[in-house]
Amino acid sequence: MFKSKYLERVFTECLRKNAGEIEFIQAVREFFEAIDLIVDADPEIERLGIIERMVEPERLISFRVPWVDDAGFVRVNRGYRVQFNSAIGPYKGGTRFDVSVNQSIIKFLAFEQTFKNALTGLPLGGGKGGADFDPVNKSEGEIMRFCQSYMAELYRHLGANIDIPAGDLGVGAREVGFLFGYYRKLTNEFTGTFTGKGLSYGGSMLRPEATGYGLCYFAAEMLSNLKGEDLKGKRIIISGSGNVGSNAAVKAKKLGATIVGMSDISGMIASDKGLDVDFVKKLKNERKMLSEYSLLNDCDFSADYRDLWKVQADIAFPCATQNEINLEDARNIVKSGVTMVCEGANMPCTEEAIDYFRARKILFAPGKAANAGGVSTSGLEMSQNSQHLRWSEVEVDAKLKEIMKGIYHNCYRTSVRVGQPGDLVIGANIAGFIRVYEAMKAQGII
Ligand code: NDP
Repeated sequence: MFKSKYLERVFTECLRKNAGEIEFIQAVREFFEAIDLIVDADPEIERLGIIERMVEPERLISFRVPWVDDAGFVRVNRGYRVQFNSAIGPYKGGTRFDVSVNQSIIKFLAFEQTFKNALTGLPLGGGKGGADFDPVNKSEGEIMRFCQSYMAELYRHLGANIDIPAGDLGVGAREVGFLFGYYRKLTNEFTGTFTGKGLSYGGSMLRPEATGYGLCYFAAEMLSNLKGEDLKGKRIIISGSGNVGSNAAVKAKKLGATIVGMSDISGMIASDKGLDVDFVKKLKNERKMLSEYSLLNDCDFSADYRDLWKVQADIAFPCATQNEINLEDARNIVKSGVTMVCEGANMPCTEEAIDYFRARKILFAPGKAANAGGVSTSGLEMSQNSQHLRWSEVEVDAKLKEIMKGIYHNCYRTSVRVGQPGDLVIGANIAGFIRVYEAMKAQGII
């Protein structure tokens, strides 16, 4: 499957050791397909066992999270923290609370995070955590007790220079507050051991908006560099209307685009005149569904969120969850006139969908690069915390924009260097790999 015999051998071993971990294997395969272009050119990579070490987490913590529900019954969930690679800095990555969470999903996210963080140019290693806890229909008291129990185990593995979690699916400002508060109580110290914190206790301006805003900055730079165009006048469809999706919608509109479709679990809404994205964001902040938007506004509604991909548009931002776009969705996207897909979520497109886009010369930006705005701003939050400073919104926004432009050009330059100009899947994976490889090589066998 791979040109490199070395990669083939490591992949076979990886399949054996991680049997049944579908998402993790998918992420490794995508990464190997990209680095296959360069691995054999440097025999040191094989001699030093770099790839074997890269696919094995440095540490995987799995633990029981017991908590008491409002009816007085004890419930038990499983918590995880995967500390994947700390060659370039302390482990850094979000926390996901969702029923679907399992070891494979947290490992794939931590693996991706390692190379995403490398692309930001910041000194951040890769990690990710979470639990198979479903926050839906839980009271605030239940969420708080769950967060405290999760942290009662995890705190001993964290630290401002060890491992710094943040939010992700199901973990927003409220949950970060509960997690950080309990961490602070247990350790009796106030350090920047969490990012995505509230502004009143060490958070950074624009951290909640950063992934969505960064996605728009990346897309704008890509359009300008590859097509000499900008987002003005472009019709965009966005899946998911949570943290990433709703903020991407707000920023894209500010940059002159029209958001013609959005989705959530309740379905999809569409309007060729453009959606009221501020209202969408307000609804979702109140934990309401998009189906309610359609009752109050003139738009089309379908209870099948996949119908979003049939809406006529120029650009698609998948911002919901992994593998949300399969081959059939990819066909619909291309049929609807879309010429550029930028991943706001982590691995939202299946491998078949990505192949379909690439074969049809659709401009494609992988999440590893395009959604790195969130972790970049987390890095800025860490810098502010360690210097006891607070930067203004304008300062953070300017730094975020520069970082996203830098990530784009790093990926693009790398794609050109390896003879695949404009293939950002290859550019992002190879650029991220090189940075981590060089750090691992310099630090000996650990
Ligand atoms: P949120 O929980 O805030 O939002 C997720 C949104 O997606 C919700 O609106 C949810 O609907 C919707 N959704 C879930 N599954 C589907 C589906 N199959 N089709 C359509 N909509 C769906 O999460 P985030 O916005 O924080 O994260 C989204 C993605 O972005 C994840 O892959 C995450 O890992 C990635 N990411 C997030 C970062 C961040 O800073 N938050 C940073 C980098 C990546 P409903 O509201 O009805 O539940």
